[in-house]
Amino acid sequence: MTRFVFITGGVVSSLGKGLASAAIGALLQARGYSVRLRKLDPYLNVDPGTMSPYQHGEVYVTDDGAETDLDLGHYERFTGVPARGSDSVTAGKIYSWVLAKERRGDYLGGTVQVVPHVTNMIKECILNDVDDGDDFVLCEIGGTVGDIEGLPFLEAIRQLRIELGRDRVAYLHLTLVPFIASAGELKTKPTQHSVRELRGIGIQPDILLCRTELPLSDEAKRKIALQCSVELGGVIPAEDVKSIYEVPIKYHAEGLDTQLLRHFGLPSDKEPDLARWENIVERVHKPEGEVTIAVVGKYMGLQDAYKSLDEALTHGGIANNVRVKTVWLDAEIFETDDAALHLQDAHGILVPGGFGERGVEGKVKAATFARTRHIPYFGICLGLQMAVVEAARNLAGIGGAASTEFGECAEPVVGLLTEWERDGEVETRSAESDLGGTMRLGAYPCALAEGSLAQKIYDTTEISERHRHRYEVNVNYMNRLSAAGVSFSGMSPDGRLPEVIELPDHPWFVGVQFHPELKSKPFEPHPLFASFIEAALKQSRLV
Ligand code: GLN
Repeated sequence: MTRFVFITGGVVSSLGKGLASAAIGALLQARGYSVRLRKLDPYLNVDPGTMSPYQHGEVYVTDDGAETDLDLGHYERFTGVPARGSDSVTAGKIYSWVLAKERRGDYLGGTVQVVPHVTNMIKECILNDVDDGDDFVLCEIGGTVGDIEGLPFLEAIRQLRIELGRDRVAYLHLTLVPFIASAGELKTKPTQHSVRELRGIGIQPDILLCRTELPLSDEAKRKIALQCSVELGGVIPAEDVKSIYEVPIKYHAEGLDTQLLRHFGLPSDKEPDLARWENIVERVHKPEGEVTIAVVGKYMGLQDAYKSLDEALTHGGIANNVRVKTVWLDAEIFETDDAALHLQDAHGILVPGGFGERGVEGKVKAATFARTRHIPYFGICLGLQMAVVEAARNLAGIGGAASTEFGECAEPVVGLLTEWERDGEVETRSAESDLGGTMRLGAYPCALAEGSLAQKIYDTTEISERHRHRYEVNVNYMNRLSAAGVSFSGMSPDGRLPEVIELPDHPWFVGVQFHPELKSKPFEPHPLFASFIEAALKQSRLV
């Protein structure tokens, strides 16, 4: 029997609902249960694929090629359960399905309404594609209670409690208990208001997760319990922590898992196995050194734009017992400044994925600097493409080398497959938007060359990694690039698409067309990140 936990948020946004959901998933796993996590987003975009990373943070890509909310990345990192496209639902998707049904005449002439048609579609998405073996589905509702667009979602989850019964549905509400300096105390009123708002919609929360800067006194807990009609054991303080990986341990110490299991009438006397998390926290808090990694990218205003990358670097540090100090640099500065000015203290240089022309020449300069100074270089997607452009221009002597993403060029070393193959289409998973239609999305296999650095790092020759890009390295330049010292160590199994390049004459220079950061986990750091940080550590000992 699958049970459902619905997680809503109140008072303000950005309280870390996604992380809280992920941590609860991890805790339930530590109790021996299998979990699935889902995100319902009330915005009208069909998916986040076309949203600017500045607005909504990174687009997280699943194996099955869906472009989803970054919270799915938290879920996967904390639970190791691969997210699926069906785990990410937006109001835009719901409405487009309802409207398509209406156009097909499926509603048989009836009036199509938010209740019941939209709410029924939401319920279908929540219940759909759940495996028999899933003990729990944790379903996070995006936004904050009180948002107009969130109402159909809350109505849908309200109905599900009636339909499935109390013993299969729990409501968890994340709120804020702010510290008001002038009064010198924590204030519970915003939480009370938020719960009142929820109850107005017909949802009585079972558990309140209270974000706070300071410990919540027993008196404050009692007050919240009484005013919000929640059992005292259901008022769980969620105090700020130094590392996000402490959260499952903290929640357990505050009794969250016990309370949740009690709600469902499940045994809770056995202690969960939290060794995995204790080990990670120990490593994060007691590193044996530090390395500095310069990330030369584009969306520097908002770190959420590179959320998985940031996490994967931390995981690389965990694998090597070091702290990774990340310096975020806007690639544009290299178009005017000398690269050495900003990069000479870096033990590793990483150029991440990106779209659009701004800063690309700066990325090429960063690659030149890393190559010529023998500093470990890790190029991801656009970072690989710019490394290939760099090598073409400066190693192979192909002067006009560039990517056709940024306009027509004499030597298209990076371009669209259709530009050099008569039927140059890779069978791509269809994205629902016109803009996303030609994108190579999701997991694709790649064959690694025996004896290459990549093969040693992965310890296998067959890998599968997730993609999100339109442009490819042009195989017609492979011979000239190989002759100049670029090794194409990973190719698509049909040999049409270069996937990994490396420079054998360099301590660590690797470019990958895919996004390895999407699959890295704290308890299973991605081998490329672990190896890159190891190389950076060696570099740090040289300087
Ligand atoms: N803009 C490049 C492309 O579309 C790279 C994409 C990326 O880095 N994710 O191919």
